[in-house]
Amino acid sequence: MKASQFFISTLKEAPAEATLASHKLMLRAGLIKANASGLYTWMPMGLRVLRKVENIVREEMNRVGCVELLMPVIQSADLWKESGRWQFYGDELLRITDRHDNEFCFSPTCEEMITDIVRKEINSYKQLPKNFYHINTKFRDERRPRFGVMRAREFVMKDAYSFHADFESLVRDGYQPMYDAYCRIFNRLGLNFRPVAADTGSIGGTGSHEFQVLADSGEDVIAYSDSSDYAANVELAQTLPLSGSRAAAQKSLEKIHTPNTKTIEQLVQFLNIPVETTLKSIVVEGKEDGEIVLLLLRGDHEFNDIKAEKLADVKSPLTMASAESILAQFGANGGSLGPVGFKGKVYADFATEKGADWVIGANQDDYHYTGFNFGRDAAEPEFVDLRNVVAGDPSPCGSGSLKLARGIEVGHVFQLRTKYSEAMNATFLDNNGKSQIMEMGCYGIGVTRVVAAAIEQNNDEKGIIWTDAMAPFTVVIVPMNYKKSADVKAAADKIHAELLAQGVDVLLDDRDERAGVLLADSELLGIPHRIVIGDRALKEGNVEYAERKVGESQSIAVNEIVGKIK
Ligand code: ATP
Ligand code: MG
Ligand code: MG
Ligand code: MG
Repeated sequence: MKASQFFISTLKEAPAEATLASHKLMLRAGLIKANASGLYTWMPMGLRVLRKVENIVREEMNRVGCVELLMPVIQSADLWKESGRWQFYGDELLRITDRHDNEFCFSPTCEEMITDIVRKEINSYKQLPKNFYHINTKFRDERRPRFGVMRAREFVMKDAYSFHADFESLVRDGYQPMYDAYCRIFNRLGLNFRPVAADTGSIGGTGSHEFQVLADSGEDVIAYSDSSDYAANVELAQTLPLSGSRAAAQKSLEKIHTPNTKTIEQLVQFLNIPVETTLKSIVVEGKEDGEIVLLLLRGDHEFNDIKAEKLADVKSPLTMASAESILAQFGANGGSLGPVGFKGKVYADFATEKGADWVIGANQDDYHYTGFNFGRDAAEPEFVDLRNVVAGDPSPCGSGSLKLARGIEVGHVFQLRTKYSEAMNATFLDNNGKSQIMEMGCYGIGVTRVVAAAIEQNNDEKGIIWTDAMAPFTVVIVPMNYKKSADVKAAADKIHAELLAQGVDVLLDDRDERAGVLLADSELLGIPHRIVIGDRALKEGNVEYAERKVGESQSIAVNEIVGKIK
């Protein structure tokens, strides 16, 4: 490909709205162009990268017998009403009405659509298991689209859905092969990633793993054991018991020293909140702007009875400072903590769901619970930062202690079980002729997000550093004076033609620009191999070769360069 026939559009400076390295570099390298919040055009250079990722994903899906189809992005509301998600999905679901007043949505995911297809097409155990995928545009009306294509509103996802006669088949023929395929995909893409146990979120179901690309700028936190395979998204890790180790769990607590001790009743009076039953715990919900809201959780004497929907949440606007001062006055005798361990999980789940920053627990009643009441002996109330499982906490797997790292979620696999098949009546006849509900798995990869994540992990002050697998071009030929030097032009054209003949993705940068511009662009664009051709070296029969990730150039004989690269 000659640059003059292609389209290169680079910028010296990134637009001010970009803060993340990958976002800046994608704009500067002309991979994407912003339209509106969370909406981007994939420019020719970026699209080449996207297609490479898609192709690797496609090859690995095909390898495990996943069958490609293509479902519509605009979907009738009827199916979404059948599953219940029309009501429950919330504001991320973009709803649209056509000229006849029929309701539709722009698909954020496709469980309903595929379940509808499968229930109509598959009716016997003989047709199972089956696994379908497509690579297609999704739309999620994200509250805060940010970081370019990392958290966009319109993005490309590979989503796959497997259907099975029983749970064993779901694990053996669906979940495990897909998990393995995901590992192969992210390895082939050259990403430093980690699969972690995860919560199932609004998609629902039981078992689940996220594939997290490790990056300090990642929005997710993962907790992993330093001496075993245990790794979990921190949201999940913090709901797990911390091996009952009081000492270590206490390390994660920040104490408030209180001069005067008050009971929970006094606190309730102070806040002027009617309480019918025993107050068990307080959750302070965090808001991003620093404002916080106080939630009071009430329940019956039995912790077992505390369910999120039974909890009255009394909201009153507070600042963090005023909450802390209330807490400072609030001392409970024998207070205990909610967020970790045993019944504390109930609070933690609820608080996590509510996006709580803090959970403070105080339990007046004398339960003989074990394993979580590590605060009960304390004279002062204590609280724990729910978002932080602290490094050094014991690993819930019982082996080693936890380390924390930041990650970017690039993939997610779920054992959905019968959540959708039951709601939408996707059944089959088993080998006894009996009707059974299908077991389901679903498997997503954020194809566009993968591109940003790769850049986030591989860049330097000069620009992007692609692996061969993802690079828009594997080789760039930079001729000095292509227009003026006949020798340079002849050598560049010859090497270009030979590499093309070998099937190498090569870019000949024949733009009429200064050498400095061409060299800087080749680095910004992150093309893994660069051949610089100039009159002086050519006279000695050489060209200059440099690998982007190494940097230094070396002289290579002009007749050896093609062999060196392929
Ligand atoms: P997140 O936690 O980042 O919001 P999610 O858990 O909501 O992601 P899933 O429903 O698991 O996302 O979707 C599968 C994959 O789609 C994710 O693993 C991610 O790579 C990608 N993805 C989700 N939302 C976006 C988005 N707004 N922009 C780009 N990619 C996204
Ligand atoms: Mg999301
Ligand atoms: Mg997620
Ligand atoms: Mg997810």
